[in-house]
Amino acid sequence: MPSLYIDGSWTAGSGGSAEVINPFDASVVETVDQAGPDDVERAVIAARTAFDTGPWRTTSAPERGALLRRVAELLVRDKEEIARTETLDTGKTLVESRIDVDDVTAVFRYYADLADKEAGRIVDTGQSNVLARVVHEPVGVCVLITPWNYPLLQLSWKVAPALAAGNTCVIKPSEVTPLTSILLVKLLEEAGVPRGVVNIVLGDGRSVGAPLTEHAAVDMVSFTGGLATGQAIIRASAATVKRVAVELGGKNPNIVFADTDLDLAADWALTAVFLHAGQVCSAGARLIVEDALHDDLVAEIGRRAERIRLGNGFDDKSESGPLVSAAHRAKIEDFVASAQAEGARLVVGGKRPDEPELQQGFFYRPTVFADVRRDMRVIREETFGPILTVERFSTEAEAIELGNDTEYGLAGAVWTADMGRAHRVAGALRHGTVWINDYHPYVPGAEWGGFKRSGNGRELGPTGLAEYQEHKHVWHNTAPAPARWFKG
Ligand code: NAP
Repeated sequence: MPSLYIDGSWTAGSGGSAEVINPFDASVVETVDQAGPDDVERAVIAARTAFDTGPWRTTSAPERGALLRRVAELLVRDKEEIARTETLDTGKTLVESRIDVDDVTAVFRYYADLADKEAGRIVDTGQSNVLARVVHEPVGVCVLITPWNYPLLQLSWKVAPALAAGNTCVIKPSEVTPLTSILLVKLLEEAGVPRGVVNIVLGDGRSVGAPLTEHAAVDMVSFTGGLATGQAIIRASAATVKRVAVELGGKNPNIVFADTDLDLAADWALTAVFLHAGQVCSAGARLIVEDALHDDLVAEIGRRAERIRLGNGFDDKSESGPLVSAAHRAKIEDFVASAQAEGARLVVGGKRPDEPELQQGFFYRPTVFADVRRDMRVIREETFGPILTVERFSTEAEAIELGNDTEYGLAGAVWTADMGRAHRVAGALRHGTVWINDYHPYVPGAEWGGFKRSGNGRELGPTGLAEYQEHKHVWHNTAPAPARWFKG
């Protein structure tokens, strides 16, 4: 079946084909079609025409919500197939992929419910003859560009609110992991999304992503990915003054005070950073530990990290899968080499696994560095892999200062039994999400996004819907009279 969906039809496109690789063993999962320049153009024009003339934008908000609810039901129906595809595509464990599909379903339900509850407001003008209201309207044609770590989840955070608000879309998934995005578009089609409202084009960022961000007929770009790409997209969109929402990387502090139980701290330090092989934007890659607990915690983490079982995502015994690609593993190896060259102490890992059955895939052992300095590259830059660094602090002020010493501001955590201190630190951290005595949870109703260079927008929650809305002021004078400003 062709892989591009443009103007309500599945089509092969003119950009040739590309292989989708299973990161577990480097085998070919599927060959997918690639978009040529003409396909990109057709997709944008289809979305433009559907927005300008089609029925979606004027479909009532409750009906749009009902369609999203049907998508949620289809996701429940196809959960296992979608989860298995996500594991084949990304290498993550099937348990994680199933959680992802449940989360995606919850996002569709959330925006189905919200669709008819954010219509706008009446404004009190103080004038009895004036009816003033602010109405929420769709932005228009939205380009949705997504990364490879949570392909389906990241897409759902964009496409569900974009459709709830009445927009039309062109989706561009990562070339590395396009398969579940294709499946979602099939479900949207089955749920009854009108022709041209949702389109998907496949291909790499340079030949497909960039032209979409530059296109004059596109009103908005919503992007999740790396900092450098986000900066390029903001620059590219300047010429046409598009709305741009970017969700970028993180270098997230996980701050542990010495009054935290050692078992709890070690357990969550591993979960914070090594989930999905560290390929999580909010991964707790910087563990920042109070002096009195530091040495014991480093020793315990090292002992446990060594025992993490890597393997096939389809094997129940696997605790972590591979990295997504050979190219990404090469980046991780480069970070490890630079940390060692700069004098960090390798506690554990720092190599590929030895097991013969893991040699074909893109595996890398969970790696822990202690005795790091803040100026090291492994501390300054997002590694996006299974690398944990451990720093130490002696005062609350120092913990906060370290936690904020990054150009990013996506997420972080604080662990302590002292609730006053927990809330002081949470208040002082310049990050978009702060967990107290926990790591990773999020819910569709709470906004997600970054401070500083982690991004400029918010996904999820009511703000995640507002991103896809224009707010228009309609002023109605019910008893017009001459102004007599000009006397003649
Ligand atoms: P990436 O390299 O920036 O790519 C993201 C997407 O942008 C891909 O679809 C990519 O296409 C496309 N792209 C590349 N160059 C482009 C250009 N010039 N114009 C338009 N599109 C372009 O990021 P990634 O490696 O896939 O993902 C990892 C990054 O995502 C990490 O930094 C991570 O922190 C971040 N992330 C952030 C969040 C968040 O919520 N803040 C969530 C998840 C991930 P191709 O890859 O097909 O070339």
